[in-house]
Amino acid sequence: MILRHPMLIVMKFGGTTVGSAERIAQAAALVTAARDKGHHVAAVTSAMSGVTNSLIDAAQAASKGNLDATLRQRLFERHKTVADAVIQDSAVRAATLEQIDRRLDRFEKLCFGLSMVHELTPRLLDAISGTGEMLAAPLVAGAIAARGRASSAIDATEVVVTTDQFGGAEPLMDETRTKMHARVGPLIQRGESPVVTGFIGATVDGVLTTLGRGGSDYSASIVGAALDANEIWIWTDVDGVMSANPSEVPDARTLAEISYSEASELAYYGAKVLHYKTILPAFRQRIPVRILNSFNPTHAGTRVSVEGDPSVPGVKAVTSIRGVSLIAISGTGMQGIPGIVAKAFDVVAEQQSNVLMISQASSENNMCFVISASEAPRVIKALRGTLELELAR
Ligand code: ADP
Ligand code: ASP
Ligand code: MG
Repeated sequence: MILRHPMLIVMKFGGTTVGSAERIAQAAALVTAARDKGHHVAAVTSAMSGVTNSLIDAAQAASKGNLDATLRQRLFERHKTVADAVIQDSAVRAATLEQIDRRLDRFEKLCFGLSMVHELTPRLLDAISGTGEMLAAPLVAGAIAARGRASSAIDATEVVVTTDQFGGAEPLMDETRTKMHARVGPLIQRGESPVVTGFIGATVDGVLTTLGRGGSDYSASIVGAALDANEIWIWTDVDGVMSANPSEVPDARTLAEISYSEASELAYYGAKVLHYKTILPAFRQRIPVRILNSFNPTHAGTRVSVEGDPSVPGVKAVTSIRGVSLIAISGTGMQGIPGIVAKAFDVVAEQQSNVLMISQASSENNMCFVISASEAPRVIKALRGTLELELAR
């Protein structure tokens, strides 16, 4: 690939890509290879694979009074194994482990608190589930520094400012940009390669938030936009965005180039390779996004751009989403009743349910829509209430 010199590349490393000492060493090698070519790099890291799930499980168990007595130690051991392997300098290693231990201490205390009050609020769940990235970032930074390129870990709570929608916070881009330029800008100017924690941010008041599961991709795009990066590279465990989920369709092919809107649609409709909100911040500034395989780094992966590849005709990819419900409202009573569709969707909106698809028969006897299965019972109940008269007919 031909690159402009020098570029600022934001590189995001997913959970599998930082899942072991060997993988973190490889991630660091990808950063230093770009630095050797003269590019600036800011990294964004996920938690090591499986860590976020175990944190969430522990929080849920603690709120029911069941403390996981061994998780703190197991997480410490797993991260220590990496530190021992990738950070040669014993003083740096000790400082890194101390930082990790402090974060695990906070995690343990939060779980203890939950076990006392028997209640898990979205805010507390974020405080706990966001710990994984804070454990991983110092290791990735340590591995980069061990390869001779200055690096340090930065908590996104310092630089990514969000709304207070815990569990699915949205970035406040003006505030984020200001903080990012003040904190991260000078490091990059000095030739350092900082490592920012993915997935998390903080409210204006400094309360930790998360961007939603799989949100580190979104973090990369937020960091890239705030820093006016030239490119955003999402390093994952497959050769880019493919024509179908390769774990379900073995002969899926890599899509070499797709448009921002194609990438958004695929992600929204289930292609887990990209968090569905990732594209927007990059698109607003027309920053090209690449999806690359850290296990196969010479593969060109997928490039997301304004044009995409118009020469490829027809269907480019197939996606699937599990756990959805199709709700049908039908019957002759639908005919000629003005506004029944509007009435139904008012109810859905009141229930804060997100409609994935809508269809309506021209006979007006039937309309269908798709929502998440977990929201279906309450939406159906509300619909039955509001449409009581129509249903009686
Ligand atoms: P990361 O931890 O790097 O963020 P994820 O597991 O979140 O990685 O996303 C990568 C996974 O997305 C792949 O391993 C693959 O199983 C899945 N996937 C689903 N649909 C697609 C698709 N269309 N193209 C590529 N990967 C897909
Ligand atoms: N660690 C977070 C999760 O598992 C975010 C991410 O990996 O993108 O959801
Ligand atoms: Mg992911």
